[in-house]
Amino acid sequence: MSLSFTHETLPQRVVFGASSSGASSSGAASVVAAEVARLGSRPLVIASDRSPVVLPDAPRYSEVVMHVPVEVAERARKAADGFDVLVSVGGGSATGLAKAVALTTGLPIVAVPTTYAGSEATPVWGMTENGRKTTGVDHRVLPRTVVYDAGLTLSLPVELSVASGLNALAHSVEAMWAPNTDPINQALALESIRALRTGLPRIVRDPDELAGREQTLFGAHLAAVAFASAGSGLHHKICHALGGMFNLPHAQTHAVVLPYVMAFNVVDLPAVSDRLAQAFGAASAITGLQLLYAETAAPHALRDLGLRESDIPAVVGAVLPAVPPSNPVTVTSENLSELLRRAWAGEEPR
Ligand code: NAD
Repeated sequence: MSLSFTHETLPQRVVFGASSSGASSSGAASVVAAEVARLGSRPLVIASDRSPVVLPDAPRYSEVVMHVPVEVAERARKAADGFDVLVSVGGGSATGLAKAVALTTGLPIVAVPTTYAGSEATPVWGMTENGRKTTGVDHRVLPRTVVYDAGLTLSLPVELSVASGLNALAHSVEAMWAPNTDPINQALALESIRALRTGLPRIVRDPDELAGREQTLFGAHLAAVAFASAGSGLHHKICHALGGMFNLPHAQTHAVVLPYVMAFNVVDLPAVSDRLAQAFGAASAITGLQLLYAETAAPHALRDLGLRESDIPAVVGAVLPAVPPSNPVTVTSENLSELLRRAWAGEEPR
């Protein structure tokens, strides 16, 4: 790629490493309180009942539902009346609900992520109505501040940590060829891959160790920043269709689909493929990815997530019109069907 590009950096304050005290959320609590005070004085916490408590005295809105149904967003907007700052604590679903409230109210968000989904670093919102998911980009929904505390991810079970971390990895890998990719996004993406491929196996080996969680959370942040700028490519279009049409679990679906899209696209991108291989510390990008999947016992077949083989044509029909024209390999009904069939069966990616 020639060194000629236009890149926009998003305005966001990032406080990383809020607590080094392990499972305790008290370190995060004081940091979050200080960050909230910069933006307002009447915080509403948006967090499910399973999320850690970081602002014990603040009112809490706890109806958090995956993919943000519009009626849930409406109720949360009413509940936010009279407050001047939102504090989301949780995974992409809690962040997503806070974003839906910010979209119409303009309230600033302090995001405290507890998974590696990365929504906190993007201006992308999503909502579902009658089974259809709509997404959009609006700078009002970008959290003003993110407080990252790896201690808050210690309670995330290993299997979900792996799937969520590979969801982050999908952001980095796709940022290498997504429609608005540029050298800044690529630099962030490659560094994110280094952090994720170091952090995730450590979580599997020792789920209670903070260092692996920190690496993974750092990688997830870099990945989301790269993705927010580079935009959504073939991988995300496929996962969006699978999630919207068949309600497949978000993180696991991304984890399963990634090797197939990567193998499909890198054949036409030798230079990118070499850089990915270096970031994975492996002989090739695919070998590096497969090694990581083996080390972390990652999910690898869409059939295990509930997709039926007979669903594939409908997915192809939904994805084809959405594929960015800039995708490195021309996508046809035939090659997309084959990609999905292999991903469904968990066959060797190629
Ligand atoms: P999630 O937020 O639904 O969390 C998954 C499960 O893990 C939930 O049951 C949750 O209660 C639990 N959980 C979360 N943190 C935990 C912790 N620390 N310990 C124990 N349990 C915990 O899932 P997700 O994968 O984080 O987010 C998925 C959603 O985010 C999807 O709706 C997706 O579309 C959206 N998303 C949006 C963007 C964006 O840029 N807008 C990016 C990524 C994901």
